[in-house]
Amino acid sequence: MNALDPRSDTTADLTGPGSGAEWTSRYSGAVMDTFGPPQRVLVRGEGAYVWDADGRRYLDLLGGIAVNSLGHAHPTLTAAISAQLGTIGHVSNFFGTPTQIALAERLLELAAAPEGSRVFFSNSGTEANEAAFKMARRTGRPRILALEGSFHGRSMGALALTSKAAYREPFEPLPGGVEFLPFGDLDALEAAFAGDPVTSDVAALFLEPIQGEAGVRPVSASYLQRARELTREHGALMILDEVQTGMGRTGSWLAHQLPQLGGGIVPDVVTLAKGLGGGFPIGAVVAYGHGPAALLGRGQHGTTFGGNPVASAAALATIGVIERDGLLASVTAVGDHLRSRLAETGHPLVVGTRGEGLLVGIELAAPVSADVASRALDAGFIVNPVTPTALRLAPPLILTREQVDDFVAFLEGLPAELALPTDPADLTTEA
Ligand SMILES: *Cc1c(COP(=O)(O)O)cnc(C)c1O
Repeated sequence: MNALDPRSDTTADLTGPGSGAEWTSRYSGAVMDTFGPPQRVLVRGEGAYVWDADGRRYLDLLGGIAVNSLGHAHPTLTAAISAQLGTIGHVSNFFGTPTQIALAERLLELAAAPEGSRVFFSNSGTEANEAAFKMARRTGRPRILALEGSFHGRSMGALALTSKAAYREPFEPLPGGVEFLPFGDLDALEAAFAGDPVTSDVAALFLEPIQGEAGVRPVSASYLQRARELTREHGALMILDEVQTGMGRTGSWLAHQLPQLGGGIVPDVVTLAKGLGGGFPIGAVVAYGHGPAALLGRGQHGTTFGGNPVASAAALATIGVIERDGLLASVTAVGDHLRSRLAETGHPLVVGTRGEGLLVGIELAAPVSADVASRALDAGFIVNPVTPTALRLAPPLILTREQVDDFVAFLEGLPAELALPTDPADLTTEA
């Protein structure tokens, strides 16, 4: 046991024979049942692989849901976090730290944000969207637009922006004023902005450039561009939730910077989290330009941990490695490789792919994603059955072509009968 081993100085019971079954039973006896029982109990990771309590290895094609950008236990990230913690690990927001300041500058730079832009730091994507929601309220206008299929988080405010009824209904009443527009429907978008732009009552439009939870569903460039025109005309905020799509995931720092997706639009607000800290919790709100940056004034928002130096150091190190190792180009190349391998596979189950870079939705011929994900797990691959007919992949940005080939070989070995129409009564998957 070395000095960095978490078991070296703790009174918690991390020992014992520790089989997966035993850990799972302890989990169920102690952890609240919001997620269901864990599929596996994971004990360590390295690069794109993780190992479970029974010693089995998995290729992590989900990356902690688009979080572990540099894979697991990346030496540079580990060293940066450790060095920062050993220098100054936390200060209140009555004080600043060089890492926090440098990270804010770095984010403004990679967002190509104009003069006057500012960053607010949070600890998660939900909190970043919560801050953006409060910015929208500060416009003084009542209406907030979001899209059907959206996912923006689970706090009361972020949930109010999230369309899925099953998530919302048990917690109503939620903060009001939010309207959901049918996904990608330009007419509905125009209708929502009907009326005199001068007296517009629309505060903001919230959008994910690619809806992750809805099955990796990109909005079109023309939709984003029209949305930008309308919001600008009406003086409403265009708020892009890039919590899942941001920080290199799509092969560009931010998804809306991809010509095929955003086509050069400049948003008013972008929210970030997930991959930002490479696995360390941190979120951020980037407010573009003087107006949006001034919506939350002194005392109008805050957080104890937001922008803490350790999280900031993790994000700086993650950004640094992405740059140093040319990972944006690699994400594009390896993502293209995956798409072309899947396009040429003759397997009847695979009908197509969606997404950009290493945010990939694989559309299946039948609603068997849960079955496929469970077979994948048994074969040593972690994927996410994001909808009944789609798998989501959001692997570490360090993923290699060889690792892609291993997964494609697994898919090609699946029984062709899985593609046959299923009796709906047999379905166990939830949307
Ligand atoms: C995951 C996610 C969130 C919520 O982020 P948390 O860090 O889980 O709070 C919000 N928006 C999008 C698009 C996400 O993918």
